[in-house]
Amino acid sequence: MALEIRPNCEYCDKDLPANALDARICSYECTFCADCVDGPLRNVCPNCRGGFAPRPIRPARGWRPGVSLARRPASTKRVGLSYSRDEIALFVRDVALIAADKR
Ligand SMILES: [Zn+2]
Ligand SMILES: [Zn+2]
Repeated sequence: MALEIRPNCEYCDKDLPANALDARICSYECTFCADCVDGPLRNVCPNCRGGFAPRPIRPARGWRPGVSLARRPASTKRVGLSYSRDEIALFVRDVALIAADKR
């Protein structure tokens, strides 16, 4: 299974193309920009409570057969928040105090 490479930040709707260096994902591939992860989200995924890692870029060019952005396109389905920003602020405030490996 390849990553979907979702097209936008779920929090602020910033475009995050397949070569974006500021895309962050949780283990379920909830996708946010670095500014939102470091800012309002406090490195807590508002959907699953996990943490984030940088999303690797998907090369546009086919360096090997079958693997390129053209052959394995990024998702075009934009994703939005499932919870209100006020609810998320409370959620991450509490969870951010729990070490990432103890959640
Ligand atoms: Zn964002
Ligand atoms: Zn998540």
